[in-house]
Amino acid sequence: MVELDNFFFKINSWSFTKHRVWNRCQRQYYFEYIAPYIKSDAVVNPEKIRWLKNFTSKFVVQGQLIHDIIDKQIQLHCENKPMALSEATNAFSKKVSLYKNVGGETFTEYHNGEKITNSFFAAIDENGKTCLQTFFGKWPGYKGRECLRHEEYDHFNIGDVGITVKVDFVGRMPDGTLVLTDWKTGRDDDEYETELQMAAYVLWAMQYFKKSADEIGTELVFLKTGEKKPYAFFEERLREVEEMIKREFAAMNTNYEYEDFPARPSVRECLSCKFAEVCPEATVARK
Ligand code: SF4
Repeated sequence: MVELDNFFFKINSWSFTKHRVWNRCQRQYYFEYIAPYIKSDAVVNPEKIRWLKNFTSKFVVQGQLIHDIIDKQIQLHCENKPMALSEATNAFSKKVSLYKNVGGETFTEYHNGEKITNSFFAAIDENGKTCLQTFFGKWPGYKGRECLRHEEYDHFNIGDVGITVKVDFVGRMPDGTLVLTDWKTGRDDDEYETELQMAAYVLWAMQYFKKSADEIGTELVFLKTGEKKPYAFFEERLREVEEMIKREFAAMNTNYEYEDFPARPSVRECLSCKFAEVCPEATVARK
């Protein structure tokens, strides 16, 4: 039987990110969340796994950079300091340049053999600037909202299951209702996934702020297009989501044997997977 470090059980919780990895490839889930904590007879050395976890997919980096810049601007607003588009775009371009200067060598795709072209950096620079312009264009509509929380990890429970969330922005409207905002920097290509993420946020906010579902609104803001999509949740749907999360968390923790986490290789997923180097089923041809 697999023995895991106690720390695993301290931090073991459900999150939307884990949900996505689990449904993409369970072997990837094993490498990401279980393999670093194996105490003996590990299939892959946990130290090697921890080292591979330092790489990040170029697509994730792209979104993270924009989120970081936006979050700094929101922090300025919360401190009653002025926000500045030029400062934000300069800071963003500088960060993109840092990655470009090293040829994207911290990207998972680079580690897995892909050459990161200059056109990729040009595209993320342009896309990022578009997103920031949209954000600044929309921000006047947010000024009337009291800033309650932004980009902080929060934890709560559904029954015995620990849940981790990180909401981009929580604002209180003048009438006392809350709106949870999520900035999307890519495409909206999965309606169901997004709805689950927002439902998890509402479940957290109900407990954290002691509000009912009808006092909490959610919205996705697509920074590439400026489109806004609101979601409202009824109690019945939230109970369904709770049950789904409990079932999924139980499935994730049935046991921790490597063989019980099947690989689901695909060219696209494996190229962006941190663990392709140690995964026998990887479809990438690493140099
Ligand atoms: S390399 Fe591919 S098959 Fe292996 S864990 Fe990663 S995504 Fe799954």
